[in-house]
Amino acid sequence: ESGWLLKEVTELRKDAQGCEFNKKRLRYLSSTQKIKQGSDGVLYWMSRDQRVQDNWALIYAQQLALAEKLPLHICFCLVPRYLDAAYRQYAFMLKGLQEVAKECKSLDIQFHLLSGEPEQNLPTFVKNWNFGAVVTDFNPLRIPLQWTETVKKHLPSDIPFVQVDAHNVVPCWEASEKLEYGARTIRGKITKLLPEFLTEISLVDTHPHSSSQTAKPVNWEKLLSSLEVDRSVGEVEWAQPGTSAGMAMLESFIDQRLRFFATHRNNPNCDALSHLSPWLHTGQLSAQRVVRQVKREKNASESVASFTEELVVRRELADNFCFYNHNYDDISGAYDWAKKTLQEHAKDTRQYLYTKEQLENAKTHDQLWNAAQRQLLSEGKMHGFLRMYWAKKILEWTASPEEALSIAIYLNDRLSLDGCDPNGYVGCMWSVCGIHDQGWAERPIFGKIRYMNYAGCKRKFDVAQFERKYAAM
Ligand code: FAD
Repeated sequence: ESGWLLKEVTELRKDAQGCEFNKKRLRYLSSTQKIKQGSDGVLYWMSRDQRVQDNWALIYAQQLALAEKLPLHICFCLVPRYLDAAYRQYAFMLKGLQEVAKECKSLDIQFHLLSGEPEQNLPTFVKNWNFGAVVTDFNPLRIPLQWTETVKKHLPSDIPFVQVDAHNVVPCWEASEKLEYGARTIRGKITKLLPEFLTEISLVDTHPHSSSQTAKPVNWEKLLSSLEVDRSVGEVEWAQPGTSAGMAMLESFIDQRLRFFATHRNNPNCDALSHLSPWLHTGQLSAQRVVRQVKREKNASESVASFTEELVVRRELADNFCFYNHNYDDISGAYDWAKKTLQEHAKDTRQYLYTKEQLENAKTHDQLWNAAQRQLLSEGKMHGFLRMYWAKKILEWTASPEEALSIAIYLNDRLSLDGCDPNGYVGCMWSVCGIHDQGWAERPIFGKIRYMNYAGCKRKFDVAQFERKYAAM
């Protein structure tokens, strides 16, 4: 019967109500920690975690509001452009936010959509509405970090500004205080903290203190049609935006695919992956919820273990990399051995050289690569195993590692529903310049960077079957 997951989760959340909030999930960005007296509400500035339930930042904002008997508000700042994101990602995000707004209405939480850069309108908005505290979520990427930095400077000095890591199971700053070398060095640290952080998540219930002023209603259709982003990258059918659709995808993963995850996840012809990255990336789903629900499946322990490794250890390692390495999307952010070896092979002859356009349009001599690129173009997501092959071939077929990295990131951010994410920068950096990896036998162009080739793929799965599936569009 479909829909069992939502019912189960709602009960679990209710049972956890009233549980104490672990303060290690938050950090104060302001010097004051005391809610301003005589204010008219508490604001959650939603950014990376675009959901109502299973959101530690909103849970904390509601607790602050309840303690002071204040109304609860959420705002989202919609920027006209974000990195290389196109209509595909914007539509997915906005339609997810539309569901957030609807849910807020049923819970008596005011939802505001602000248009423009956060630093330009958020501080004024906070003053105009006389909010007594601002809570926000956490994103280790450069632009959002810059937003919080500037907003912090311009918020009234007498209100607390609190950041909650609502994305990671173990808050990024708790998992490690430094740049980790790889999965090997962070795994133990995260695993040790899971009993403390991988708790049940309590329900955000109807807010008992209504706001005397209501938020301006949003005309979603108009908003979508007025976006000035590239519309040639359109929406995809299989991934419906919003938390409900994300929960349905999680349910189908648990029911149908999870048991094959351990054994078949590297076979692009098998349907064994969760497909959850679009909802996890936008925060429409909480990774903590996903891992808790998956762990309830006692009959698939091997798959549960390997899935937890990806979803918790690898994903949180990516946040660690971006948070502690400011050059997370640049060759200069690689290890010295990797920079040296790539430099030594910079002048190696390239048998094939393709332009960004040829690559984007899947016009290479390699039918597997083209098929993978077509999967990305048409579905907004490429199979995880092929992503590695795809990025490594870009290194082999472009003039320099710098160019390869920038093209891989551009195509991934522009075409993938889960793009513009720490996982994407780390995935591209792993493939092109060996971060979180080790040196391998030296060879042309790659130097000591791990190599992948067509023959290797043929040994792993039926390459011809995949090529047929994504034959020229
Ligand atoms: P599943 O295998 O079902 O995994 C579940 C979740 O675990 C994923 O949604 C993701 O959150 C996490 N995860 C899985 N593999 C990794 C990994 N290697 N590193 C970090 N987290 C992982 N992931 C993105 O979310 N966004 C990206 O833009 C992105 N770009 C990538 C680019 C390259 C070149 C490479 C090699 C990898 C990239 N990845 C990216 C990581 C990984 O390939 C995807 O997370 C995965 O394919 C998403 O599909 P899924 O949700 O079905 O994965």
